[in-house]
Amino acid sequence: MPVADFEPVIGLEVHAQLLTRSKIFCGCSTSFGAPPNTQVCPVCLGLPGALPSLNRAAVEMAIKAGKAFGCRIAERSIWARKNYFYPDLPKGYQISQYELPICSGGAVPVPGLGTIGLTRIHLEEDAGKNIHAESGSQVDLNRSGVPLIEIVGEPQLRSAEEASEYLKALRLSLIYLGINDGNLEEGSFRCDANVSVRPRGTQKLGTRVELKNINSFRFVRQAIEYEIERQVKEIESGGKVLQQTRLFDNEKGVTRSMRSKEEANDYRYFPEPDLPPLLVSPEWAAKVQVPKLPHEVLDELTRSGVAQADARTIVADPRLVEVHRRVGGDPRRAALFVVGELARAVNEKEADLAALKFEPAQVAEVWKLQDAGTLSSTAAKEVLAELIRSGKPPARIVQEKGLAQVSDAGALEAVVDAVLARSVSEAEKYKAGKKNLLGFFVGQAMKELKGKGNPGALNELFKRKLGD
Ligand code: ADP
Ligand code: MG
Ligand code: ZN
Repeated sequence: MPVADFEPVIGLEVHAQLLTRSKIFCGCSTSFGAPPNTQVCPVCLGLPGALPSLNRAAVEMAIKAGKAFGCRIAERSIWARKNYFYPDLPKGYQISQYELPICSGGAVPVPGLGTIGLTRIHLEEDAGKNIHAESGSQVDLNRSGVPLIEIVGEPQLRSAEEASEYLKALRLSLIYLGINDGNLEEGSFRCDANVSVRPRGTQKLGTRVELKNINSFRFVRQAIEYEIERQVKEIESGGKVLQQTRLFDNEKGVTRSMRSKEEANDYRYFPEPDLPPLLVSPEWAAKVQVPKLPHEVLDELTRSGVAQADARTIVADPRLVEVHRRVGGDPRRAALFVVGELARAVNEKEADLAALKFEPAQVAEVWKLQDAGTLSSTAAKEVLAELIRSGKPPARIVQEKGLAQVSDAGALEAVVDAVLARSVSEAEKYKAGKKNLLGFFVGQAMKELKGKGNPGALNELFKRKLGD
């Protein structure tokens, strides 16, 4: 059977670091990039006798995710020890949740795919990190005890592309919820992909392979695509897919066996004796506020008149959503500013979304000047560009750059009269029907006004004076 006769089935497990200030079972800082082993204490070092105490902020973030995705929030969930040996795990076990996780069920909205079901979301602590250098391998335990949620998705994805769309939507949702920074390279959002194939039209799931070590959206697609093809070839050539954990080698673009089912870890889970069951009362869960998710913001923007493509661009970055909100005024006009002048300035490194120099509400001042005829549309763009660069008050920019249009009726009339006085024959021809001379008159006046005349007002004045 050719590849086309097989249907890929993919289910993703995502580990997302929660944005708490301190770790899940101790008060150590979670900030990234500190010198190795400077953010540790007896608890997260796993020293004998040290007792964990739960960080409520981590629990609230898990509840927030659960509520956002419509999961059931367990009133009682259990901490479990997941036992294994690894140099980055000095205490020999990770505190996780196993049989009774904090959240179960629910689904993630994915644009273009509807929703993808979730099996569960549970809380756990992160392990440390092994650093392999030429001089040898070292262990950094700063990450040990950083809170994670593991989000286990149902096997409902049918292609590498769908898996990547799901991951993008999930990542952006967590960022909107303010519980994860979405940084794949730093490892704060990590993904394992379970892949199997089955003959199209059949229901029974094929044997799955778990892919680890995928740290970019491109690699997710590459690893899954490679794996689908590998499994189909295996079956085609009369073999069968072995249940395995495989590592993705992003330099060669291939997956390699790490361990097979026979050597699969037996974690010997058992309830954590040092922590009581996690109790989440309905009142506590009700108090946790859930901000809008990306798809809701997208709907709002498009309903307010913002073009679909512009709305998508804005929603892709919550900082743009915030700027759009703070610009205020007509949503469509504000969107054009965000995806136009602002996006260009960011591209050209004249603005940094993390540290804007201007107050978004000032944009409306520029619009006001434009609508009053003080600024031409070109001049308004120039003022906006300078506003973004420097944050100077728009009125001052207009003055410094000499961008104000002359709209004052008296000033314009004097120039119009002067132009007509020296263009007697053109005026005759105009009156006789050569209406396209209007451009000539306005041009003459503009020259005198050094391009600053309000063209609309000049048009009107000439027409009136010439008896139209
Ligand atoms: P484990 O804890 O050993 O990883 P789980 O049963 O919790 O096992 O499954 C983990 C993930 O594997 C889930 O995301 C699920 O969707 C996915 N999965 C399970 N069976 C299959 C399969 N046959 N093909 C693809 N994905 C699968
Ligand atoms: Mg797994
Ligand atoms: Zn600690």
